[in-house]
Formats: sequence, structure tokens, C-alpha cells
Amino acid sequence: MADEVLTYEETIAAYDPVLGLEVHVELGTATKMFCGCPTTFGAEPNSQVCPVCLGLPGALPVVNEKGVESAIRIGLALNCEIAPWSRFARKNYFYPDMPKNFQTSQYDEPIAHDGWLDVEYDDGAGGSAVYRVLIERAHMEEDTGKSTHVGGATGRIHGADYSLVDYNRAGIPLIEIVTKPLTGVGERAPEIARAYVSALRDLLRALGVSDVKMEQGSLRCDANVSLRPRKKRPEKQEDVPLGTRTETKNVNSLRSVERAVRYELTRHAAVLAGGGAVLQETRHWHEDTGVTTSGREKSDAEDYRYFPEPDLVPVAPSAESVDALRRTLPEPPVQRRRRLQSEWGFTDLEMRDVVNAGAVELIESTVAVGATPAGARKWWSGELARRANADGRELGELGITPRMIAELDGLVRGGRLNDSMARQVLEGMLAGEGNPAAIADARGLALVQDEGALAAAVDAVIAANPEVVDKIRGGKVQAAGALIGQVMKAMGGRADAARVRELILERLDS
Ligand SMILES: [Zn+2]
Repeated sequence: MADEVLTYEETIAAYDPVLGLEVHVELGTATKMFCGCPTTFGAEPNSQVCPVCLGLPGALPVVNEKGVESAIRIGLALNCEIAPWSRFARKNYFYPDMPKNFQTSQYDEPIAHDGWLDVEYDDGAGGSAVYRVLIERAHMEEDTGKSTHVGGATGRIHGADYSLVDYNRAGIPLIEIVTKPLTGVGERAPEIARAYVSALRDLLRALGVSDVKMEQGSLRCDANVSLRPRKKRPEKQEDVPLGTRTETKNVNSLRSVERAVRYELTRHAAVLAGGGAVLQETRHWHEDTGVTTSGREKSDAEDYRYFPEPDLVPVAPSAESVDALRRTLPEPPVQRRRRLQSEWGFTDLEMRDVVNAGAVELIESTVAVGATPAGARKWWSGELARRANADGRELGELGITPRMIAELDGLVRGGRLNDSMARQVLEGMLAGEGNPAAIADARGLALVQDEGALAAAVDAVIAANPEVVDKIRGGKVQAAGALIGQVMKAMGGRADAARVRELILERLDS
């Protein structure tokens, strides 16, 4: 049975949302965190395992130095303090995807703590605003294996005939980044949650520590939400204790982060408004139906019997080595966006559309391979953003590369295609017909390059429309539009409208 929900407006009118976001990022190291096994995605199941990551008796782990370096760089980029001394801990639990029966993680001594990240989000009133997300900690751990439940309708363990487990992922280095409660987010809570994961993804990509592919699970978000009653006087709001939270697990796209938070808030509101109590539990997000369902109950102090890992030495980076890593940090995302906006010459409104479309990196890559910023923006945050939105996909999943858009932009600028032809070529690109020039050839799309033919068509139209010509000569230049339309028609749409306009005005000496 579907859960009751309130509308989002009702939810926000009565309650104050508080968020907490936990992001797991798989590091792009060549080998696992505590052994030399490779980390290639998609390899034959159980082909990338050894006694250490299978937890065989007597096997001893060795920490991956690259993994520690990445953890420190992530901590520094998130403005965290780096612990001069931290330890790994065993998190004990039994589950078939964890062959050692414990996960090597960090507990009360994380490598990085107390940081922040500024994120820019759409304020819903035609502008953008910045929210400072406070970071509680970033710690190192290892990923688990992957279970596949075969034979059931849902792919979950209930109703399955049997289960398979692949340990290739077991031991891949993970960094878990945990925020402090995000308070004061108000009605923009879903957008701020999305903006945070998006900014974090940009930052991790810029750091070069992960391929941050949400669809492949190398970046995963667990979204905690809770509601508390809204105070009439906003200055009293921070004194209200936090409500009971739920944790929606493994939300695997930016769009889903926003949707899952919005849904969960409206579900909590319905429970509270009906006089009930929110159950503290994990929830599963269902992309297709846009709802969450109950996972397992979760108490605050789950007993994992953490204790310090006796087989690994503590991590104690010297101040000099931390400083050296600090010098390798990229520009922070908000500053980077401001710089790119000024380099590209975009207005605030244009840049906001680009950011909302998730097109910053794509435009940057497209400009890098030869497109004009305006040309790159036109396609990525125009037609392609509309298409991605309609299909419920990310821009990067449309099968269109920056190089293809740069080529399309080149064909338009070189006078080979006009705008309407370019749109048809784009259709072909989306349909997987190949590269722009090949599609233009195959579809017979090309502007008439024969100036003589164009001039003849212009002369004929001028001769046939003496009244319009008088108007233009009388100063009404906008009347030329009617003539341009007729020339375009005479040329079967295969003329460059800007050139036609030029020729008409030249002829009439306007
Ligand atoms: Zn191994």
C-alpha cells in the first residue's frame, strides 16, 4: 500500500526540514585499499581477489599509500582538519558480501574532520544563492562485495531462488564523507541536497581521485531527512530539537537525490500531521515510481563492536607531507564557476541555466576542443538539456560527446549549416546516426554555397515586392523579414538567412 504524503507546500508551511548527507566515493586507485588486487570495473566475477581481500586466515593487509593521499587531498579540499594520527578500526558484522566478517573502516579517529563546502543552488526566484555545508568527517574504508539475487521478481533477496556474490569490489578504497545536519535549508532543501552532491562530484572530479560515476556506483549518496515543527519566529527555529530521521540508501543520480529528499519530506509530514511518529529506519528509493519503501529499522547505536585494527599501523602524515598535498588542490567549485562565467562571457541568467542543466564540465570540454562558448552553451543547456530532462537522464548519458558538439558548432560557423539544419543534424546525433558531418551528408543537409544563385533569388524577390522595398527604403528595415522568408522559400530552406539579409540590405542600400 502506498504511503500517505502531504503536498510539498503543506509540508514546508508546517515543518522545517533538516538534512544529513553521507556520500561514499570509490577512489580511482589502480589497486585495492589493503592488497595489490586490481580495481577495474566490469571484470569477470571473482577474478580480482586474493587471500587478503577474501579474508583468508593469516593474510595480512598493507595500506595503499595512494588511497591515503587521496583521502587527505579530499579532506583538504573540503576545508577539513587533517588528523596528525588516525587509526583504522574493524566494523564487525556478518553478511555474505563481506568475507572477513568485518569491514576495515575508521571509527572515532577519522583522517579528516570539521570542514565545509560552499554550494551554489538555484534560489527559485530567478537567482542563485550559496549554502555552506558543514562537513563532520571524511574517513577511509573499504567497499564490500556485490550480491546478485537470482530468480525473484524484484531482484531483492526475498523471493530469490539463490544468490551469487562477486568479491571483485571487496576491498576497493572508499572515502565516506558525512555532513553535519544541514539546518535552515527551508523549502529549497531538495535543491540544496542536489547542489551539494553535484558540487562534491565536481570537486572530486577536479581532484582526479575518482571517476565519480553515479550510475556505476562509484559515487553513492545516502540522504537523511527529518522534520521539526516550524516556529512562527524564525530566530527560535534553531532551538527546536531535531525530529526522527530516515536514511534513504544508495540514491544513484543527482536528479534522484532531489526527488528522494522531496518525497521523503512529504511522507514524514503526512505521518506527523496524522499524529504519528516517524520510524527511524533505512529506506529504499524507487526510481521508476518515485517513492521510498521501508528497509530495515535502525537504532542510533548499532552494535558493530568497533575496535582498533591490530594488523595495520596508524596513519600519521607529517605536516610537510600534508602541506605538499595542499599545494596540489584544484580551484574550489564556486570560484571555478565564477571564473568560467567571466571567461565565457555568460550573463548570470545564462550561467544559472548552465549550472542547473549540469553542463559546466561539458561546456568546458566542448570549448577545449574548439567550440565557441556561446555555441557550446546553445546546444548543451538548450535542446540537449530539454531532451535529458524529458527522458529523466543526465546530460552525459545522451551519447553526445563534447567533440560532436564542437563539430556541429564548426559546421554552423563555417556557413555549411543554418540553425534549422543544425537541429536536424542534432536529431540524427541523438538517434545514433554518427558524427555531425556524416549525418549532414547522409541527410543531404547543406546550405547553398553558390553566391550567384543566391543573388538571383534575392533579385527576383526584390523585383516582385515593390511595396515592401519602398518600406525598407523608407527606413522600416524590419520589413526585410518578409523578403528573407521568400528567398529562403525559393532556396528550399537551404540558404543562410543572415547572408540573405545582408544581400537584401546591400541591394537596397539600407
Ligand atoms: Zn586482494
